[in-house]
Amino acid sequence: MEAIAYERAADIAGAIRAAREPGVAFIGGGTNLLDLMKGGVERPVKLIDITHLSDDGLDTARALPNGGVRIGALMRNSDAANHPLVRERYPLLTQALLAGASAQLRNMATVGGNLMQRTRCPYFYDTAFAACNKRAPGSGCAAIDGHHRNHAIFGASEACIAVNPSDMSVALAALDATVQVADAGGTRGIPIGQFHRLPGDRPDLDTTLQRGELITSVDLPPATSAAGTAYLKVRDRASYAFALVSVAAMLHMNGDKVEAVHIALGGVAHKPWRATIAEGMLTGQPLSDKALHEAAAAQMRDARPLRENRYKVAVAERAIVRAVNVAAGRERLGVTGETA
Ligand code: SF4
Repeated sequence: MEAIAYERAADIAGAIRAAREPGVAFIGGGTNLLDLMKGGVERPVKLIDITHLSDDGLDTARALPNGGVRIGALMRNSDAANHPLVRERYPLLTQALLAGASAQLRNMATVGGNLMQRTRCPYFYDTAFAACNKRAPGSGCAAIDGHHRNHAIFGASEACIAVNPSDMSVALAALDATVQVADAGGTRGIPIGQFHRLPGDRPDLDTTLQRGELITSVDLPPATSAAGTAYLKVRDRASYAFALVSVAAMLHMNGDKVEAVHIALGGVAHKPWRATIAEGMLTGQPLSDKALHEAAAAQMRDARPLRENRYKVAVAERAIVRAVNVAAGRERLGVTGETA
């Protein structure tokens, strides 16, 4: 048995002070971190409990002067999904949050923790497998020649082909959210597209957070009331399963033409993957079936699937088409949000 020190931080400043020591980890809901610790994948020497911070606004959402909304990092996923400001202005985020995990986990997991959750690659969690560059840098990657049905088709490296498991982060990517963080030197905002990393030769690093930085909130830009949105999650079963592929789509039409479209893919890369090729092809054009199918196909031409995950290319292509059609009001999703 390994002893682990515990400290309950009273405020943000105290949490940041405590995080200066090496080997510490912040714990909020703990829904991922505790699993990793029980499996011996993560071995912090000290846990800093941030669930009792007294600073205002960390466990709720509030309107910002610019018309956007700030969601506190300690807000539980279920509370964030059901907050009136989120439900009314950002239904895409509500849909994505409610598509994640189970009701019990959503009641416990925090928004900050959701951003920090680690890949569900089974080799990462099973320490009996020696080769995992994310868990043990330099050891290799068991998934590349092993089972990789759920792994990346975009942005992977020779060191790691894992995917980010978060539904919430896919919606945040489509919404152009900003992650607010604090450390001893002050605060900074990280655009969501720069928050999660591609694996490159450092798959052990999931994000661009620096040691000692604490996520304090997620800021959403002003919502466009005219935008249609859809979160479509394709998975092996109707609930409590990670996405094989997911699509968050936000569409703003001007007459029959696409004024703006944001499309983010989940389950396909080490980070939420913005479908910039499809977005560029659709913007300013009439939203015809032909244009939509061509844009989705063009987006997927950059995919680099492996032996077991080729199916994701076709699934993602169809999911892009369907999600945009749902955002346009031409189709509807079932109650669980999956394709039929
Ligand atoms: Fe580890 Fe990444 Fe390879 Fe999975 S894909 S075994 S997480 S290095």
